[in-house]
Amino acid sequence: MNYGFVIDNRKCIGCHACTVACKSEHEIPLGVNRTHVKYVEKGVFPQTRRTFTVTRCNHCEDAPCVEICPTSALFTRRDGIVDFDSERCIACRSCMQACPYDALYIDPETRTAAKCNYCAHRVERGYEPACVIVCPVQAIVSGDLEDADSPIARLVAREEVSVRKPAKGARPNVYYVEGDRAALDPSAAAPSDSYFASEQSGGVGHFARWVQERAAEAGEDLVSPFDPAPERGGVTLAGSISISQRAVDDVGRELAGQGRRVYDAPGKGILWGWQVAAYIWTKAVASGVVAVGVLWHLLGGAPPAATGFAALATALAFLGLTGLLLIADLDRPERFLYVLLRPNWRSWLVRGAYLISGLGLALTLWLVALWQGWEWLIRFARLAALPLAVGSAAYTAFLFAQARGRDYWQSALSPLRMLVQALLAGSAALLILLGGQPLEMGRVLLALVAANLLILLQEVFTAHPTEDAARAGRLVWRGPDSTLWWSGIGLGSLLPALLLLAGSSPVLLGLAAVLALGGVFLTEFVWVRAPQRIPLS
Ligand code: SF4
Repeated sequence: MNYGFVIDNRKCIGCHACTVACKSEHEIPLGVNRTHVKYVEKGVFPQTRRTFTVTRCNHCEDAPCVEICPTSALFTRRDGIVDFDSERCIACRSCMQACPYDALYIDPETRTAAKCNYCAHRVERGYEPACVIVCPVQAIVSGDLEDADSPIARLVAREEVSVRKPAKGARPNVYYVEGDRAALDPSAAAPSDSYFASEQSGGVGHFARWVQERAAEAGEDLVSPFDPAPERGGVTLAGSISISQRAVDDVGRELAGQGRRVYDAPGKGILWGWQVAAYIWTKAVASGVVAVGVLWHLLGGAPPAATGFAALATALAFLGLTGLLLIADLDRPERFLYVLLRPNWRSWLVRGAYLISGLGLALTLWLVALWQGWEWLIRFARLAALPLAVGSAAYTAFLFAQARGRDYWQSALSPLRMLVQALLAGSAALLILLGGQPLEMGRVLLALVAANLLILLQEVFTAHPTEDAARAGRLVWRGPDSTLWWSGIGLGSLLPALLLLAGSSPVLLGLAAVLALGGVFLTEFVWVRAPQRIPLS
């Protein structure tokens, strides 16, 4: 059994009855929806056309939300419905990053994730979902796609159907008859400056900002957003936004050909903000101090302080901060233990939580052993801590890769970058702890800063596998946060490299270490934010 939907765009009249019936059936609060009707207009008056596209959870056969959910709050039923249990949800928002279709939202009343569940309670009693029943033109067809005699299976077999974003590999079970690329592909149609019958998701100036972003990506000569500058050929839209005339002309042509979104789901903004970037940074310091200290000891020549009380206590303190930041970022922080107690082992969030907990335990044992002078336990904790530190450093790359909605985070270089950044952060922290000594540590830091810089530039400037990844890459170095990224490159990579090359005084080495640590935070901050600016629906 495999339940799915067919949305017949030949019939849909865009009346929103499905949206309203769904809200009523599930008592959905104001401001959020489980199903939506997107309007796209094409052409130039009088040759214009408006198309409607119903969007919702696709009940994917290989559901990215189910894979990433750390507590199995999202799960696939035997009948193919992807359902959720809000009692298990910790509201980490990872499902919202993983879903390529923007199907999930945080319920403002329960503060947990929610989405279309195919009206499972109705289906179990032999009824059809509320949206199917209410549709006045039978544009929504539900049923078992594996039953060849069912109306939905016959419709899929008979008509030419399309799905949203097939390249994501999620195997969605919502099929569109006469699906229009301008509506199914979130980036294909421009948002309108003022929406049909309303102003929403950005309101006035939304369109102008989109034009600016597109023009900036294309390398257009832009007029400042805050400077109307008519003498430079700029025009002012919506009062405070100005753009170049050429950009307006280009976009006008684009609108005529590809269409404009005049009504769609409000954007959800940046779901993972500074706390997530800060957690990556504190984790890099903690795991890096341990990994560099142990490796240095194993290779010989490490001063006792490299794996001494202060170094281990620093690593443990940063690990504690990592945990606090992770918990603070949850919308249901009181449920954080569910990650350990109700684990979904496929989720890298769970695997990472166990790696961090294991590292915390090893460090605690090591500190106790140092205090008591138990040499055998020191040796055991040291050996156990190294793989746990490497795993803690790198796992976040695999977690972000499970966020399949964000193409830019799928980079194969990410695990290497996270590992190099952890070793860099560990070397820098140890240099500071050891008072800018020894000189060899400065050379190690220089090599790691150079390696990190190469990886960062490679990740941003080489060819990207998808258009969304390429757009996110451009947003990293030319988008709203690009000043921070360039600061991370200039002040956090190039300047420390010059300082490390210039001299060997402890003060210079210490300063270089501090700057390098700042650089890691800034570049990670932008790496986390930029891909979230790409629309998913
Ligand atoms: Fe639904 Fe999105 Fe999960 Fe697919 S990934 S099952 S569309 S919520």
